[in-house]
Amino acid sequence: MPIDASILKNLKKIIGPKHVHDAWHQRAAYAYDASNREFVPDAVVFPSTTAQVAEIIRLANLNSFFVIPRGAGTGMTGGALAVQGGIMMPMTRMDQVLSIDPANLVADLEPGVVTGDFQKMVEAQGLFYPPDPSSSAYCTMGGNVAECAGGPKAVKYGVTRDYVLGLEAVTGAGEIIKTGVRTAKGVVGYDLTRLITGSEGTLAVITRITVRLLPLPESVRTITAVYDKIDDAAKTVAAVFSAGVICRSIEYLDQAAIGCAESHLGIGLPTDAEAILLLEVDGDPQQTERAAERVVKVCQDNHARKVTGVGDAAEAANLWKARKGLSPALFKYGPHKINEDIVVPRTKIPDVVRKINELRAKTGLTMVSFGHAGDGNIHFNIMLDKEDPVALEKAEAAVVELFQYTLQLGGTISGEHGVGISKAPYFDMEVSQTQIELMLHIKDVFDPNHILNPGKMFPPGA
Ligand SMILES: Cc1cc2nc3c(=O)[nH]c(=O)nc-3n(C[C@H](O)[C@H](O)[C@H](O)COP(=O)(O)OP(=O)(O)OC[C@H]3O[C@@H](n4cnc5c(N)ncnc54)[C@H](O)[C@@H]3O)c2cc1C
Repeated sequence: MPIDASILKNLKKIIGPKHVHDAWHQRAAYAYDASNREFVPDAVVFPSTTAQVAEIIRLANLNSFFVIPRGAGTGMTGGALAVQGGIMMPMTRMDQVLSIDPANLVADLEPGVVTGDFQKMVEAQGLFYPPDPSSSAYCTMGGNVAECAGGPKAVKYGVTRDYVLGLEAVTGAGEIIKTGVRTAKGVVGYDLTRLITGSEGTLAVITRITVRLLPLPESVRTITAVYDKIDDAAKTVAAVFSAGVICRSIEYLDQAAIGCAESHLGIGLPTDAEAILLLEVDGDPQQTERAAERVVKVCQDNHARKVTGVGDAAEAANLWKARKGLSPALFKYGPHKINEDIVVPRTKIPDVVRKINELRAKTGLTMVSFGHAGDGNIHFNIMLDKEDPVALEKAEAAVVELFQYTLQLGGTISGEHGVGISKAPYFDMEVSQTQIELMLHIKDVFDPNHILNPGKMFPPGA
């Protein structure tokens, strides 16, 4: 149902007129996310309390309009887009860190807190919140929970779901629920916290998050290894684990990615190399030194042409700048790129690298890959000219072939970016019909009138 004057009046009554935006330019500002697609919402509302969120959802149920929860709009798969109209609900006014408890190693916060700000806040108290998407300077903790965000440190420390202890959320029926615990353990009932984590705003709106924290590691060492052959870089990743070292990050850039980062940042990266690995170890200083030495040896044994152990924090920061700057740099060079984030068992990375080379040769398209190699998580980008339908067709066929191959290798079609609208057509390549039906029943229970984030995750027509 369209958002008419009486609905707008009611929304203004709930959250105040200033926080309901219905002018064209205000709505257009919330028409996009990092998926590069655009859908203008019918209105944008900015609640500041859980009670307001619940009232808005109840109004939506009464008047049959859609509600799309949103964080910072950095999602890569179109999850925060109003694809079928309705109201966009950025949670950015709910941006308070409510408590940090160093003795119990937990923190409570609102969903609009920016992830990087929260990390800095806990680090100032000697604490550590490891999930670290490369967008951490902008994305929100609510968006991270809804997508179950990962990031470079997932190799050793896991992903967002491994840190969420409990949630407060408003279901699609407008009920406020509190899930999970604030303790180290808790097994009472089904794990609704884990169910909502990664549900992409389709079941409930997250209004409060309890996360666990760790003590901040005392020392970190970053090592870079430059390779003439990408296959050697791929083999290094599994060899590091076989050597008994759990790096906190192992990031990888292929030659196209190195070239892109270098032309964007100009920091002297070796553009003739086929691959660079960026490896990081942490722990107490002695343990870190020993692990770093072992990592250097494994890289050398696997024919790295140059291995640098970086002691200097500024130099390490520069390398991370190149890695974290890659996604925005790629948008600059190919605004219409197709961007996938497949994961394979890390021993299968060499197979995926060969497959990508084969697809590149077969299609003649520019393909750039980089990512969290330590998790087997490869961000695979096909650079496209939107006006070229032949290239688009070839690219889409290449994506299907890569997905089939990934699943054959025992992998998954998305490690951290979620399904949203971009991967919804491929959802049933990985998830069986029986599971899809179970998931639809769960959706019916949480959101009986399907007002929350329509058109996402499930395959079209499901
Ligand atoms: C340059 C760049 C680098 C990135 N690097 C990484 C990376 O390393 N790892 C990674 O995992 N991701 C990465 N991402 C993807 C993205 O940043 C993450 O998915 C992030 O979690 C999205 O957060 P957000 O606040 O921007 O959410 P949005 O994009 O606004 O929303 C994402 C989804 O969450 C839902 N949502 C948001 N808030 C709530 C809420 N309070 N309650 C219920 N649902 C909600 C939305 O409906 C939508 O479905 C990257 C993106 C960019 C642009």
